[in-house]
Amino acid sequence: MESIKDCLVADRLVVDETGPAFSWVWASPVLGGSEQSQLQQLINIVCGVSLGPASPFVWNNWVPKKVAIVAWRAEMDRLPSKCALIRRNIPVQNDHCVFCGESSETSEHIFISCQFAQIVWQIIADWCKIPPIFAFGISDLLSPTGVPASSRKKWKALHAIVLVTFWSLWKMRNEPVHRQVVPNITRIVDEIKAMAFLWVKNRSKLAALTWEKWCRFDVGG
Ligand SMILES: [Zn+2]
Repeated sequence: MESIKDCLVADRLVVDETGPAFSWVWASPVLGGSEQSQLQQLINIVCGVSLGPASPFVWNNWVPKKVAIVAWRAEMDRLPSKCALIRRNIPVQNDHCVFCGESSETSEHIFISCQFAQIVWQIIADWCKIPPIFAFGISDLLSPTGVPASSRKKWKALHAIVLVTFWSLWKMRNEPVHRQVVPNITRIVDEIKAMAFLWVKNRSKLAALTWEKWCRFDVGG
């Protein structure tokens, strides 16, 4: 009955001072009987949906979109971790984390509670001269603190590094098991530093940024 088949639910919601209300655009007038009751059922379903957390994902044009998308998917729990696959009835050999081999592999585990990830975040925090990172959820990692709010460039560089760290962890997790020379902290940290430098150097307007400065996380104001 919708006249624009690919419209979004949001397109049919209007919000005024009385709150949200539907504003339908039917292809033809809704008739009585079954159509009316289907419409009522639809309204009941849509009204029960809560489009929770209000914190929107912050994109960062200092890293490519394909990099940021890993963190974006992690935050929405849309990465195909082993537990996510099992939830969708897709067979996996086991649900063990490839980094520690102990816990069940969920997005939360890979990026937060796994010891391997915790050591990586620790080294990143030391490098960027911020306090140790304690995260209770993916979104805590995505809103890094510890740099003065006044230094926008520093925050953006730190945020870029966080996004690259998600990408790097997920990339290493996806390496075939036989290529994994024991989860290698030095290798992943070196990769995060080098790739983040390349992208930030080329995409930001930080013309004076050198590798030496980057290694001290000296990115200016
Ligand atoms: Zn683990």
